[in-house]
Amino acid sequence: AQRNPGQPEYLQAVTEVMESLWPYIEKHPKYTSHSLLERLVEPERVIMFRVSWVDDHGEVQVNRGFRIQHSLAIGPYKGGMRFHPSVNLSILKFLAFEQTFKNALTTLPMGGGKGGADFDPKGKSQGEVMRFCQALVTELFRHVGSDTDVPAGDVGVGGREVGFMAGMVKKLTNRADCVFTGKGLSFGGSLIRPEATGYGNVYFAQEMLKRKGRSFDGLRVSVSGAGNVAQYTIEKAMALGAKVVTVSDSSGTVVDEEGFTPEKLAVLMDVKNHLYGRVSDYAERTGTRFVAGATPWHVPVDVALPSATQNELNEEDARTLVKNGVVCVAEGANMPSTMEAVKVLEGHGVLYAPGKASNAGGVATSGLEMSQNAARLSWTRDEVDARLLQIMQGIHESCLHYGSRADGSVSYVDGANIAGFVRVADAMLAQGVV
Ligand code: NDP
Repeated sequence: AQRNPGQPEYLQAVTEVMESLWPYIEKHPKYTSHSLLERLVEPERVIMFRVSWVDDHGEVQVNRGFRIQHSLAIGPYKGGMRFHPSVNLSILKFLAFEQTFKNALTTLPMGGGKGGADFDPKGKSQGEVMRFCQALVTELFRHVGSDTDVPAGDVGVGGREVGFMAGMVKKLTNRADCVFTGKGLSFGGSLIRPEATGYGNVYFAQEMLKRKGRSFDGLRVSVSGAGNVAQYTIEKAMALGAKVVTVSDSSGTVVDEEGFTPEKLAVLMDVKNHLYGRVSDYAERTGTRFVAGATPWHVPVDVALPSATQNELNEEDARTLVKNGVVCVAEGANMPSTMEAVKVLEGHGVLYAPGKASNAGGVATSGLEMSQNAARLSWTRDEVDARLLQIMQGIHESCLHYGSRADGSVSYVDGANIAGFVRVADAMLAQGVV
């Protein structure tokens, strides 16, 4: 805490991982040698920079840009860029730390990183978004590259923003190699990348349910958020026969007892992806009920899939979910459950998957995009989807391997943390003190 003052999210993420790793490390003391843990909690490089740009009124705006290059031990730094007014060093360091373990879990050759800016895309014109993206990469471009650091999207950064950033990086470097993943299909993107995080989370939850002899068919599901992850989570859960009864954003929650349909999902995608609107607009267009200021967790469900942001599900929410009979919580977002909430869920035998395991499908498919770009190939939709499913099943297996307890229960938290840690730590030990 003394080394990282004012960084509560970063300390939360490190504490959570270290608490679950410690019993394993005590039995395997080689992992305390060579100051391995001290090195692991210090990002290899932190880049902070000014982004100045001109808005539609001719005014100069100044934002702060970041790239956290956490670990190169297994492969190039890899992780998304987030544009949100809340972005700061603490949030990005937590995300880069988590990303390092998550990427290791995929078994693909990717290190860990994260970046972004305290820019608020809400209410900005297309021209402003483009000028901001271009201004940001006039600094970022010198720190990235296909074998160094490959950013992608995250909150506030979708295909449009990735396109603007990748375009300017190519212009500045005069090179066409894979500088971003999550690119459009017209310039090297991979099929299934937009769907991958949401689909992957549902695939992971499906594996968890399967162990208990259950499937999504007929289950009630709540989803938070309404962005990229939430949309494809809804699509896949519906396809597997679940009834999805909520969707939300930072202004409130839509509760829909009839459940989502493909037609309603198309309206949501239009509202969020084309009109850059709110879920209240979606509720108006579909005649569903919008509850201002509410989160989805008061609605009784079998499965909850938090897909918005960090710390959106607290201890009280977890108690409400448990009281209402939830059997599975799988995180599409990064660290959406507080530490207290996780203790409640695990303590009541709820199947609980931490984001670093269950939302790894996005970055895994980014890894597949890097492979396709390097080989100058593009795989079919089915091929990428099949690999995604296989990777999620592999991560589930790793969690069982490292997280199974003597009483037959499984801690997916311990499993994910230990499995990711062992891969990163072994790679670090093999490469000496650097
Ligand atoms: P989007 O920007 O597409 O959507 C984010 C959604 O979450 C929006 O509905 C937004 O509502 C809501 N949200 C964001 N910040 C807040 C906040 N501070 N308070 C309340 N609601 C908020 O992002 P993604 O769907 O890509 O990302 C969602 C989560 O999934 C994040 O935690 C991200 O790190 C994680 N993730 C994403 C991956 C990807 O491939 N995209 C991969 C792995 C994890 P509003 O519009 O009101 O802000």
